[in-house]
Amino acid sequence: MNWLVETGYFAAAVVFILGLKRMSHPTTARSGIHWAGIAMVVATLLTFLHPQIDGRYGLMLLAIVIGGGIAWYSGKKVAMTDMPQMIAIYNGMGGGAAAAIAAVELMRMSDNPALIEEHGSLALWLGVLGAMIGAIAFSGSIVAWAKLDGRIKKAMHFPSQQLINMIVLALTVYLGVVIAAVEPSSSLVLVFFGLALLFGVLLALPIGGADMPVIISLFNALTGLAVAMEGFVLGNAAMIIAGTVVGAAGTLLTQLMAKAMNRPIRNVLFKQFGGASSGEQSEIEGSMKASDPMDAAVQLAFAERVIIVPGYGLAVAQAQHKVWEMVELLGERGVEVRFAIHPVAGRMPGHMNVLLAEAGVPYDMIADLDEINNDFETTDVTLVIGANDVVNPVAKSDPASPLYGMPILNVDQSRNVLVIKRGQGAGFSGVENHLFYLDHTHMVYGDGQKVVGDMITALKTL
Ligand code: NDP
Repeated sequence: MNWLVETGYFAAAVVFILGLKRMSHPTTARSGIHWAGIAMVVATLLTFLHPQIDGRYGLMLLAIVIGGGIAWYSGKKVAMTDMPQMIAIYNGMGGGAAAAIAAVELMRMSDNPALIEEHGSLALWLGVLGAMIGAIAFSGSIVAWAKLDGRIKKAMHFPSQQLINMIVLALTVYLGVVIAAVEPSSSLVLVFFGLALLFGVLLALPIGGADMPVIISLFNALTGLAVAMEGFVLGNAAMIIAGTVVGAAGTLLTQLMAKAMNRPIRNVLFKQFGGASSGEQSEIEGSMKASDPMDAAVQLAFAERVIIVPGYGLAVAQAQHKVWEMVELLGERGVEVRFAIHPVAGRMPGHMNVLLAEAGVPYDMIADLDEINNDFETTDVTLVIGANDVVNPVAKSDPASPLYGMPILNVDQSRNVLVIKRGQGAGFSGVENHLFYLDHTHMVYGDGQKVVGDMITALKTL
């Protein structure tokens, strides 16, 4: 029976990897999710046959019904714009599950030291490390969820924050070493978990500005690592393989996000990172000038080259279908239109690509920051729809700004700029946007979908 379970776990892990591979391209991503889901179901069902389950089917079923029920209900109910929060919290659940497994194993070892011999000392060390990483990913992801959901302030700072963070981390590591090298007593294990959870909270609290994507993908990578390590403790191949894959993919994503934000990853842990603004931020000159959908449509219709920059507001307004309808009308008039995507636009990696793919925008019209950033100078009109932080020129000019250093789309360099947003609201970082005050920028106020709909009506009359 064990042979069947192990072979089944291996097959599930292979399907999981193939599913992940399919997720790397928009056309195959949906089926990739199905593949990975099927692999998860197979692995879960096989666990019923695992010898260690020892007849406790009732508990397993109860866990599946409660967990699966909550996930099914929340997955059905969640609004598209709340997806990032949901991903953050499910990510944290993975870390929490790994930490919970570690907690049970460490407690068992503290009650019965003979088990340490049985597991081997490597498993004990990996178990402790996985416990620490999983607990940090769990509590940190909950803070990330609360920030994305607007339940707590974006960046929280207090005196000697970095020193306190370092002390808590050092204490956690010290206790982990004592547990693994000396004795896993249950009181030590409890304090160890408490400190690791506290460090996760402290790590996520100061992150605000526009740096959240880096920390979210870091927690994702940590969750994978924690699951892989607990897989070693349990001798479970499916957990080792799936955890390693998630850890590796998450690490790559963290690197990509850090590169997109121009922040070295080591600063995440050891430096003031994201959102602390020191000194005075620069004064804004000029004023915001309002335009209307008719004028905006005329400007676009008579342009040669147009770039559209979508942002989080496009997702809120669900304006992607209308935008594509407008682009098709412009194409019929001979206007060359492209989309410029900033790597952290929206609230999750690839957010804008997903929306544009959903509306049927061809991939060759979509360009990344590096590909398109030199083309704004020769662009007649740039139309910004619900984007803010990713087009804020203070990131280039104001060292006192929390956005400073983050690469942005050079929209300010284009000949004319139109910005669709509902009002004077700031972006995720809360930083005022100097782009909106430039002489060649005009604001078209209103909900993204409504304004673009009005522009389509106007275009049809021209
Ligand atoms: P921003 O959050 O900076 O700005 C979005 C703008 O959209 C707001 O200023 C808002 O202005 C406008 N808006 C909101 N609703 C609507 C609507 N219905 N119609 C039209 N406009 C609307 O978005 P960006 O995409 O420019 O930047 C993303 C930010 O999120 C970055 O700071 C990034 O770091 C952060 N982030 C990204 C993550 C990722 O993985 N991509 C994860 C977590 C955070 P108004 O209220 O006036 O309408």
